[in-house]
Amino acid sequence: MTDCLFCKIVSGDVPAKVVRESAGTVAFRDINPQAPTHVLVIPRAHHANVGDLAADAELLAEVVREAHQVAVDEGIADTGYRLVFNTGAQAGQTVFHVHGHVLGGRGLNWPPG
Ligand code: 5GP
Ligand code: ZN
Repeated sequence: MTDCLFCKIVSGDVPAKVVRESAGTVAFRDINPQAPTHVLVIPRAHHANVGDLAADAELLAEVVREAHQVAVDEGIADTGYRLVFNTGAQAGQTVFHVHGHVLGGRGLNWPPG
């Protein structure tokens, strides 16, 4: 999609601090980090939200696998991390190209705000 910010990160038209890549995904640091580790994992193919992504079970699994590997690489897999897919406006989704937030490196409150 030409007008999608995260499609432009995939194509390299918008720069990002990429930390991991796989055949189907790209992981990059959030521009406005909410925790010491805050990385976004996205499929290269445009899917608006996690519901749409769930139609492709293999790609959904790849996104989750890569998110876990980011946590391992960042040294937070054992201490704990959160994987969040904000879905829809009321949940705070602002970019409508699905992305898993990998958050960790500090204590995370529950319930979330
Ligand atoms: P959402 O609110 O849709 O769940 O998450 C969107 C995330 O994308 C936000 O955490 C926001 O900081 C991040 N973001 C927005 N624009 C950019 C950008 O141009 N580059 C990067 N790296 N992150 C962005
Ligand atoms: Zn997109």
